Amino acid sequence: MAVYLCHEQPDLYEHDAHVIDARPGAVVLSRSAFHPGGGGQVSDIGTIETADGAIEVTHIEPDGDTWWHVLSDADATIEGDVHVAIDADHRLRVASLHTMSHVLNALVFDEFEGSLVTGAQINGDGTGRMDFDLSAIDNDRLRALAEPVNDVIARGLEVRAVYVDADEAAATPGLVRSMSVAPPPTPDGRLRLIDVDGLDRQACGGTHLTNTGQSRRFEIGKIENKGKHNRRVRFRLGD
Ligand SMILES: [Zn+2]
Repeated sequence: MAVYLCHEQPDLYEHDAHVIDARPGAVVLSRSAFHPGGGGQVSDIGTIETADGAIEVTHIEPDGDTWWHVLSDADATIEGDVHVAIDADHRLRVASLHTMSHVLNALVFDEFEGSLVTGAQINGDGTGRMDFDLSAIDNDRLRALAEPVNDVIARGLEVRAVYVDADEAAATPGLVRSMSVAPPPTPDGRLRLIDVDGLDRQACGGTHLTNTGQSRRFEIGKIENKGKHNRRVRFRLGD
């Protein structure tokens, strides 16, 4: 995985670019601060402004290292110089839930003797889910973890992205619990880790908050038993 512009400059929501490839309803840009999604996280949304007006980007369709910015108008063709704007509210919702999914992951790992995450999904509407490899547990114990997640929001812990050698990371106990949704290393063999200060450190290529205090309340909804060894926890952002 390449190092994304949105990883290098997480606060960059607007910039100029030019179209380097186009088809009806989609364009490839010379640079893009959109997050392409992946690992269960939806992509950024936003707009591309041209001399003729603004058009919405509904999602990113990655094709290898090429990102097609898919437009709301399937017939639209765009060329030349453009101005790009990322939807900051959407980014914040997704980054909030994604960051809290790290926190929940860490709490489940501690509460249930090293239980692993087997899948995750973060949606643009402020909802998401995580699947944990858990069997024969009381779902109320799982549901009760919403409170310590909200404690972490209230404490305002710093969240940092750091890059480490991928081989070293593979040998570090604890990082492995999220490998099912972890990104591949960068071309120079580094792995991106998200560090929630004093609580959690795991490999991830998604978008995150820079401080847990930026999140709205975290609420746990339905918990489903999906197979003998799988609990699906649904969650959402509260008010
Ligand atoms: Zn993440």
